[in-house]
Formats: sequence, C-alpha cells, structure tokens
Amino acid sequence: MGAAADPPAPEPPAQAVTVYLKGKSMTTGMVRKIDDLGRVVIPAETRRLFSIREGDELAISVESGNILLRKVESVCVFCGATESVGPFRGRGLCENCRTELSN
Ligand SMILES: [Zn+2]
Repeated sequence: MGAAADPPAPEPPAQAVTVYLKGKSMTTGMVRKIDDLGRVVIPAETRRLFSIREGDELAISVESGNILLRKVESVCVFCGATESVGPFRGRGLCENCRTELSN
C-alpha cells in the first residue's frame, strides 16, 4: 500500500475497480465526479472504444432508471429509433424514415 504516482494523462484519473484474472487486468465501474456546471468527463478509453471525438453530439435518454448516452448518429433524428440507423449528413437516419424521405 502507498500513494500512487501521478498519471501522465492530462485528465483527472478515474476511480475504478480493477479485476485481475489469470494475469490480465480489466477495469470496471469507472466513477467520475460531476462538476459545478453538471459536466462529466467520459474517460478517454471509453471515447476511443466508441469513436467519440471532440464536437461529436451525444443523445441523452433515460432507460430503466439509467442515464444512457448514445452517439447522435446512432439515433434517428426524426423518430428516435435506435435500430437500423445509419449516418446521414452527420445525423442518424433510420431505414423507415430513409424510405419515407425518398418517396
Ligand atoms: Zn426514423
């Protein structure tokens, strides 16, 4: 036990639970504090996993008591559908709306 060295990352370190299994480590349950403006930093590794870049938009919804963040291009801009959604001029468009628009 001892104080951990400061991480080189510019972002504040996430508090995390790290599980060690057969020599491999897996980090789960990352905790981030909300700042005084209500902002929260999405950890860099999570952003990388979902290809979220600066300027990208996230749709915020509540499902089953959880706050859900989705990249805007994965949510239909017209009907809010999340299935069969593809990018259309930087926004999400589902197959049904795409069909309606082309008629
Ligand atoms: Zn739609």
